[in-house]
Amino acid sequence: MSVSLELRDIVQRYPAPDGSGDVTIVGGISLSLDRPSINMLLGPSGCGKSTLLRMMGGVRPYGMRTPTSGEVLIDGAPCHAEHDDVVMVFQTYSNRPDLTVEQNIALPFKLKLWRDRVSAAERAERIAWAMDRVGLSDRAANLPRQLSGGQNQRVALARALALKPRILLMDEPFGALDAQTRSEMQLLLIKLWEEQQCLVVFVTHDVEEALVLGDRILVLSTRPAALALDLELPDHRPRDELWLRSTRVLNMEKDIRAVLAQRAVPDAVQSAADA
Ligand code: ADP
Ligand code: MG
Repeated sequence: MSVSLELRDIVQRYPAPDGSGDVTIVGGISLSLDRPSINMLLGPSGCGKSTLLRMMGGVRPYGMRTPTSGEVLIDGAPCHAEHDDVVMVFQTYSNRPDLTVEQNIALPFKLKLWRDRVSAAERAERIAWAMDRVGLSDRAANLPRQLSGGQNQRVALARALALKPRILLMDEPFGALDAQTRSEMQLLLIKLWEEQQCLVVFVTHDVEEALVLGDRILVLSTRPAALALDLELPDHRPRDELWLRSTRVLNMEKDIRAVLAQRAVPDAVQSAADA
C-alpha cells in the first residue's frame, strides 16, 4: 500500500489566553512520512502534539485557522479539510453510551461516505472481524458502562480498524489506562497493525510506549515546538525487556529524556517560585 503524509513548514499561532496578541505554538515543522509505519509523536504537555495531529487529518477547531501557515499534504495533495482516508482515535474513547459494542463499532457506517465506500455485506464482515480481533465478540450486546476502560478503548480501536484506514491518527489512546492494560493494548495494536498495515501517527508522553511501538520516534521541543529528535528504530519485534535494555535503545531513551527534561526545567523553576 502506498501512502504519504507530509508537513511543510507548519506554523501555528493561537490567541494568548490573556488577550495579549498571539502565541506561536508550533514554529515551522517539516516532516515526511511516506510508508505504512508506526510513528510516535512525543513532547512535553502543551507543546502542540494534539494541534499537529488534528491538522494531519485536516481537522480544524471551530472558527480557527490551522495551520496559521504551511501546508499538510496527503498523498502529495494539499489537505484543507477533513480527509476521507484519515481515522482518529482519542484518549476519551467516545463510545456512545446508549449503543451496544457492536452498534458502536458499526457507527461510522451510518455516514454516507462509508456506506458508499463499503458494501453492506463487507460492512457486516468487517464489524465481526474487528470485534473478534479486539477480543470482544462475546460482548457484542453489552453497553459501554458494562465494560472496563480497556475494553471501551478496544471498542474505539475496533471502530477505527473496521474502516481499514490508510492513515490512523491516535492521540494518547492508552493514556488513561492502568499500566497492565496499557501494555496489553500496545501488544494488541502491534498485532493488528501487522495484519493490516497503515500509516499510524501515535501521540504519547510515555517514552517506553514510544520505544515499544515505534518504527520512528519524533520528539518535539516547546515553545515554539520544533522537531528536536527524529529517530528510526530497528525493525525488531517483539520489543522485550532485553531489547529495551540494550545499549543502543538505552542511548535513544537517554536522548529522548534529555529533550523532554530541557522543557521541564522552566516549569520546575516556576512551581518552586509558586511554593
Ligand atoms: P499537547 O497536545 O501537546 O498537550 P495542544 O496541541 O493541545 O498540546 O496545545 C498546545 C497549546 O496550544 C496549549 O498551550 C493550548 O492551550 C493551546 N491551544 C490549543 N488549542 C487552542 C485553541 N483552539 N485556541 C487557543 N489555544 C489553543
Ligand atoms: Mg494533547
